[in-house]
Amino acid sequence: MKKIYISFLFVIFLLFSTASAVDVRVNFSKINMPEEPIIVNNRTLLPLRIIAEIFDCNVGWDPNGIVTVDNGEDNIVLTLNSNKVIVNEVEEEIDTFPVLKNSTTMVPIKFLEDYIDAKIEWYQDTEIVNIVIEDDAIMERAQNVSRSYDRRSKYPKAVNKIVVVDAGHGGTEVGATYGGIYEKNINLKIAKYVKDELEKNGVRVYMTRTEDVTTTLASRTTLANYLNADLFVSVHNNAMPNKTSIKGTEVLYPTSSIVKNGITAYSLAQKLQQVVSTEAGTYNKGVINRNNLYVLNKTNMPAVIVEVAYMTNWSDLQKLKNDTFLEKAGRAIARGVLESF
Ligand SMILES: [Zn+2]
Repeated sequence: MKKIYISFLFVIFLLFSTASAVDVRVNFSKINMPEEPIIVNNRTLLPLRIIAEIFDCNVGWDPNGIVTVDNGEDNIVLTLNSNKVIVNEVEEEIDTFPVLKNSTTMVPIKFLEDYIDAKIEWYQDTEIVNIVIEDDAIMERAQNVSRSYDRRSKYPKAVNKIVVVDAGHGGTEVGATYGGIYEKNINLKIAKYVKDELEKNGVRVYMTRTEDVTTTLASRTTLANYLNADLFVSVHNNAMPNKTSIKGTEVLYPTSSIVKNGITAYSLAQKLQQVVSTEAGTYNKGVINRNNLYVLNKTNMPAVIVEVAYMTNWSDLQKLKNDTFLEKAGRAIARGVLESF
C-alpha cells in the first residue's frame, strides 16, 4: 500500500515536472492548433491566432512585442514577457504574461475569458482545459479552424496523440561507458530531438526524464500507463565489449497482442528500424524480439526500444560523439513514429 502511494506521488511529480503540453478542448472536442498550448504558472496559454480566428477578433503584433486584441468593443494591449496590460486605455496587471513559442504568440486564455464569448473550465483529474462555447456560429467557426489546422499537419493522424519518450538510464545509472561518453547523456540528447520533432507535428510528448536524474523502470512505465499513452519509445545505445566489430541500429520489440491506432510493437519496430537506419545512416541490424525487458512488458501500449548505435564499435562511437548525428537520429525516430500513425 505504501509503495503504491509513493509511486502515485512520483507520477504526479513527473507530470508537473515534464508535462509540456496541455489538453485543450472546445465543448470537450479536441481542437487542432497552429502550436500546442502550454502551461505557465498554472495558467494555460494558447496561440493568439486561434483565439482571433474562433472569436473573430482583430489582432495586431509589432516587432517590439506589443500585441493588440480588439473584439469590436474592447481594445486590449498586451506586451510579450510583461505583466502590464492595457484594457480600453486603463492599465492593469496580469499574473501570467504572453510569451513566444516557436515564433507563435501564446496568450493566457483565462485573462481573455472576460473579452470573448466563452467560459473556461479546468478539470484537474483529467487535466483538460475546456472552452465552453454556447453560440452555434462561434462553435462552427471553431470546428472549421480546427479542420484547417488538421490539414496543415503533414501527419494529421499524429496530431494530439500521446507519446512517451524514454531516455534510457540517468543519474547514478550511467548505462554503457566508452570513449569518455556516458550512454545516459547521449540517450537524453537524442530523446530531446525526438520530442522536438514530434511536438512540431502536433504530438503530445511526455518525457520520463528531461535531466540527468536516476529514474526507476517502474516510474517510466507507470507514467505511460497513467497517461494512457498511444506509444512508448525508449532510446538507448548498445555495447558489445567482446565483439567490437558489431555496429548499427537495432529496434527491440516484445511479443504482444496490444494494438493501438492500428499500430503494434512489431509494426512500430519495423518502421523505426527502416527510417532510423536510412536517415541516420547506420548499419541496419534489423528488429529483434525481446520478451524479458521491463519497459516493454509493463507498458499497456505498443512499446519499443531503439538501440541507435554501438558504443563499442569505433565508427559508431565517432558518430555518437557528433551532435549532428544525435539530432539526425532523434528526428529520424520521430519521423518513424509519425509515419506509423
Ligand atoms: Zn541502455
